[in-house]
Amino acid sequence: MGYNSDMTATSTPTTDLLRPQPEHSKFWQNAHHYFDRVYQTMNLDPIWREVLSSPKRVLIVSCPVRMDDGSIQVFTGYRAQHNHARGPFKGGIRFDTSVNRDEVMALAMLQTWKNALVDLPFGGAKGGVVCDPRKLSLGEKERLTRRYTSEILPIIGPFQDIPAPDAGTDSQVMAWVLDTYSMMVGHQELGVVTGKPVTLGGSVGREEATGRGVMNVLRAFLATQNKNIEGTRIAVQGFGNVGFHAARLLDTRGATIIAITERASGIYDEKGIDVDAAGLYYRERGNLVDYPHGDSITNEELLTCDCDIVIPAATESTVTEEIAPHIKARILVEAANGPTTPQADEILRENGVTVLPDILANAGGVTVSYFEWVQGLQNFFWDAKQVQNELQKIMEQAFAAVNAKADEVDCDYRTAAYTIAISRVAEACRLKGLFP
Ligand code: NAD
Repeated sequence: MGYNSDMTATSTPTTDLLRPQPEHSKFWQNAHHYFDRVYQTMNLDPIWREVLSSPKRVLIVSCPVRMDDGSIQVFTGYRAQHNHARGPFKGGIRFDTSVNRDEVMALAMLQTWKNALVDLPFGGAKGGVVCDPRKLSLGEKERLTRRYTSEILPIIGPFQDIPAPDAGTDSQVMAWVLDTYSMMVGHQELGVVTGKPVTLGGSVGREEATGRGVMNVLRAFLATQNKNIEGTRIAVQGFGNVGFHAARLLDTRGATIIAITERASGIYDEKGIDVDAAGLYYRERGNLVDYPHGDSITNEELLTCDCDIVIPAATESTVTEEIAPHIKARILVEAANGPTTPQADEILRENGVTVLPDILANAGGVTVSYFEWVQGLQNFFWDAKQVQNELQKIMEQAFAAVNAKADEVDCDYRTAAYTIAISRVAEACRLKGLFP
């Protein structure tokens, strides 16, 4: 079965589920487009192209859950593991109604490149459950998380595959993953999941890490232009974990956050939005509808508004070929995974917009997840300063490598980032060879 662009299923049978086929979703094809475009220029052995094109494994599970009203609802869950040549699989778990097999396969592939680009000893994975977490009670969410964890248990573990939070999940969900896994194996296993609450072996600084990494990478890029964050006018799409912390940290460094949107609504204030106050309002209500300050703005208006920097931090494919020609910002920072379609990317390049790509810009989350994994295995915990310093070091090193590659081969940052990441993964594959 395939998918239409609106993600409804088509009747065309998919003969090969894992290798890219025309009936696979646009997002999965976009992930391939970015990979193929760079791979073909790299003079690598074509054999690894085949290997790297498809995930190693995709597990689809059915999760029956008793709802509060006594009924039983069955939720579909996925865990896609793309490549583990460089270490155990690692990647988030997403709870959303739009989760589907192609999406987790694409996100797992992106995660492989991201982990390699920031030089973490991990491969890439992604999981998700088709559900609307906003409509589940706390008890229902816990039962769903525990059932999903037990269903994917055979393929996760501290040295196999280490999940983390993604859209629609948080540290509480990770605490349930930890507890379910630990109960099943008979001992507390801190290394099985990251993004846990700090009191349960989580790392300080993990919650804000993706937003902090966005800030680190943007600051490093601006430095190459002899500019800094102070005084820039920034619009942020998506006001969840990533969007909120990115906006908050940029605001504290002197940027003016002039627009913020979430799924249902948005606010625009030329004088600057009070990010903490808007964050409090959003956390209490789950949206920004009727926020008492500023004007209301749509997602499309945000992306095309008059600002210096636009940060898509919501979900994939929001920056489309229809929107790209109207983007006025000169810098676009991909805090979300896969927000820019290949066609839009081309338009932005032609229009001279600098794109800081997702596999670089939002790698701060997995980087601090790596710190958390290391701390959990050692039962020795770092303070906030150490986490922030180590994160900054890794993000700046990654940016410097991408910047140098872009200069060396005269290409855009996405091409440079993919070139570095793919060559590291392909080299690991080559050195390991094939088993048996
Ligand atoms: P979240 O669920 O905490 O927040 C998502 C936000 O985006 C919400 O404000 C939601 O209302 C908004 N949104 C969702 N769909 C939208 C749409 N179609 N248009 C406009 N707004 C929309 O999720 P998050 O953890 O902040 O993740 C956001 C993005 O960042 C995702 O692409 C995710 O994969 C990526 N990411 C997250 C992490 C992490 O550590 N959480 C790390 C790396 C990348």
